Amino acid sequence: MNERDSEQVAQTFSERGYTLTPTEHDADAILINTCSVRDQAEQKALGKMGIMGKHRVSRPHVVFGFMGCMAQSRGEELFKRIPHLDVVVGTQKYHRVFDYVDSVLSRRLETRMDEVGSEMETSRVEDEIVNLNGVKVLTARVLDTDEEEGSQNTIRDHVPREKRRAKAFVSIMQGCNMRCSFCIVPDTRGKERGRPISDIVEEIEGLVSEGVKEVTLLGQIVNLYGRTEFDKVDGKSPFVQLLEAVHAIEGIERIRFTSPHPIGFRDDLVAAFTYLPKLCSHIHFPMQSGSDAILKKMRRPYKNEKFLAICAKLKAARPDMAVTTDIIVGFPGETEEDFQESVRCVHEVGFDNAFIFRYSKRKDTPAAEMEGQLEESVKEERNQALLAVVNKLASDKHDALIGTTQQVLCEGPSKTDKSTLCGRTTQNKIVIFEGDAERMTGEIFDVKIEDSTGYTLYGTPMLS
Ligand code: SF4
Repeated sequence: MNERDSEQVAQTFSERGYTLTPTEHDADAILINTCSVRDQAEQKALGKMGIMGKHRVSRPHVVFGFMGCMAQSRGEELFKRIPHLDVVVGTQKYHRVFDYVDSVLSRRLETRMDEVGSEMETSRVEDEIVNLNGVKVLTARVLDTDEEEGSQNTIRDHVPREKRRAKAFVSIMQGCNMRCSFCIVPDTRGKERGRPISDIVEEIEGLVSEGVKEVTLLGQIVNLYGRTEFDKVDGKSPFVQLLEAVHAIEGIERIRFTSPHPIGFRDDLVAAFTYLPKLCSHIHFPMQSGSDAILKKMRRPYKNEKFLAICAKLKAARPDMAVTTDIIVGFPGETEEDFQESVRCVHEVGFDNAFIFRYSKRKDTPAAEMEGQLEESVKEERNQALLAVVNKLASDKHDALIGTTQQVLCEGPSKTDKSTLCGRTTQNKIVIFEGDAERMTGEIFDVKIEDSTGYTLYGTPMLS
C-alpha cells in the first residue's frame, strides 16, 4: 500500500516537470514514505533521514520530507528529532505533497537569504533562517496531518513506464474501522473510505491500455470495501460487485486482492471464486493467532473456527487455492498452549507460506500496556519453531509442482539474475525461466516446472 501511495506522489511530481532520480545524491527533494506497523520500520526511516542531512551542507536547497503513517502519528515531534526536516505530511494528504515541497524549494532557490520575510502560500508554514551544520538555510516547516474527506479518491494515477509492465496495484479504499489491540493503523489511516466502482474501473482501463494484465486491489480490509457507502445488490457485497466490474474489463487477465479479514468474508465472496475465473487461486489471509484466547486479547472479533471454515470453503470453491497468512507469536499473555494452537492451525490449513512476526510493542496501542509481556527469548524460540513448520510446508508445496505445467505471467528480468526471466503462477509462486524479455514480459504462457529450491520454481516456457 505504501508503495502504491509513493507511486501516486511520484506521478504528481513527474507530471509537473520534476524528474525521478535513481539516487538521493542528485535529488532536489528527498521524501521518505513511512510505515508505523513495526518500531523497526520507524527507526530505519529516522536513521536514514538523519544520515541524509549531510546533503544540506553541499546542497542547502534540498527539501526533506516524511510522508505516511509515521508522519501521521508523530507529526510535529519529527521536526525536533530531525533538524533539517522541512515537510511532514500525513496519510490523507499525499495529493498535497507536491505543492508543499515545490513551494519550499522555489522559495529556497529564489529568495536571497537577506530578503526572507514574505509569507509562504500555506498558513501552515513557518519561515525561519537557521544555522544547520554551519550552513544558513531558510527553513519552512510544513506540517499537514489533517483528515480530508475524499482523500481515498486521490490515489489513482500511475507513473508511465518506458518498458511494459505486467501488473499494477490499485488502491480501492483507505482506512480501517477495526481496533486490533496491537495495531496503529486505525490511528494513522483513519476510518474506512471506499472509492466509487466507476473510478476504479476507469483507472484499471487506463492500466490495460499500457499493457497491464494483472491488478492487485488494495485495502486495509479489502473485503469490507464500500460497506459504509454502497448498498448490497442481489445479496452481493460492494466488494463482490467491484470484483465483477473489474472482471468484465477486457484485457485484464488476472485479479488479486489483499488483505481480507474474516469479518465480512461471506459466502458471496467465496462463490465469486467459482464464477470469476480471472480471480487468481491465491489469497493472503491474515490469521494472526490460532488461539481464541489470544484473538480475544488482540480484539479480533471472531473465533478461529470461523477462520478455518472460510479457508475450507475457499479450497472447496477452488481446489488449487493457495493460502498464505500473517501470524504474530509472543503476543502478551500467549501461553505455550496458545502457541501450539497456532501451530495446529498452520498444519490444518496447510498454508503455502506465512509471514511470522514476533510481537513488538507499538506506541499508543492497548497491547503495549497489557500484562504478560513475554521475554524476547520466548518470542524468538516460538518464531523459529513456527518458521520451521511453515518452511517445510512451503517447500513441500513447491516440490509438488515439479513436473506440472503452470500458467505464468512474465514480469520481466529476474531481480537476482537479470539474464533470466521471472513470473508468477496463479498461486503467486515465483517461477524463473529463460527467454526474451522484450517479447515475453506481460505475456501469459505455460511453463513446464522442472525444479524447486523450496521457495522458487524453475522451468521451461512452452511457447509455440
Ligand atoms: S484489521 Fe486490525 S490489523 Fe488490520 S489494519 Fe485494521 S486494526 Fe490493523
